[in-house]
Amino acid sequence: MISIDNVSKWYGDFQVLTDCSTAVNKGDVVVVCGPSGSGKSTLIKCVNALEPFQKGAISVDGVPVGDPKTDLPKLRARIGMVFQNFELFPHLTITDNLTIAQMKVLGRGADEARDKGMKLLERVGLTAQAAKYPGQLSGGQQQRVAIARALAMDPIAMLFDEPTSALDPEMINEVLDVMTQLAHEGMTMMCVTHEMGFARRVADRVIFMDRGQIIEDCSKDDFFGAPRGERAQQFLSKIL
Ligand code: ADP
Ligand code: MG
Repeated sequence: MISIDNVSKWYGDFQVLTDCSTAVNKGDVVVVCGPSGSGKSTLIKCVNALEPFQKGAISVDGVPVGDPKTDLPKLRARIGMVFQNFELFPHLTITDNLTIAQMKVLGRGADEARDKGMKLLERVGLTAQAAKYPGQLSGGQQQRVAIARALAMDPIAMLFDEPTSALDPEMINEVLDVMTQLAHEGMTMMCVTHEMGFARRVADRVIFMDRGQIIEDCSKDDFFGAPRGERAQQFLSKIL
């Protein structure tokens, strides 16, 4: 579903990604971890073309992301993205947050968009919040709305960038539970997270990045059982 092939990227003179290659099969959950500044966010932003890259190739469902002929808005509409800071539209109600892109980007009618939005809101347990504004919800609730909003677009894959890092500890599990349910339903997911409990329970594979490189890319059992490299071992010993 997602193929990343020898991707390198520079910010000016600074090389942020060096020859990154990996692939995510349909239905797989891949957790990406590594120290702060190692390039995790940059890598997943390259996948849905929020960041350009200078070398290599990425394709999503066979569509080449770096090809100037690719219709990027169309591609992005098919890839759900959930960020650390929720990024809901603050001036719109939860209902409107859930429906606006369905109508504007996918051309759905108001009733259809509303039905779909409400179904997803129910799925994340927030039906009662439909008429509120994001600022009236807790962080955990906002992040669940952000996930529902992404799902409303019927994405072929979901990218998560530290979706629980901005949350108080008691709210982390309510978001991880939604992500776990999604994984069990077969969604293709690439998740930047340091929640190693989630990785152990849900991931098929774990990627470890350091200084712009993919250092480890292995099954979760290999990653947690016998971390091959010293850097991954050091990282794990700090966060576990
Ligand atoms: P991570 O998500 O693993 O913490 P990032 O992908 O955010 O890492 O950043 C990787 C490196 O690239 C960091 O050293 C960061 O300072 C640098 N970086 C990120 N965004 C930019 C930017 N827009 N311009 C220049 N450097 C950047
Ligand atoms: Mg990051």
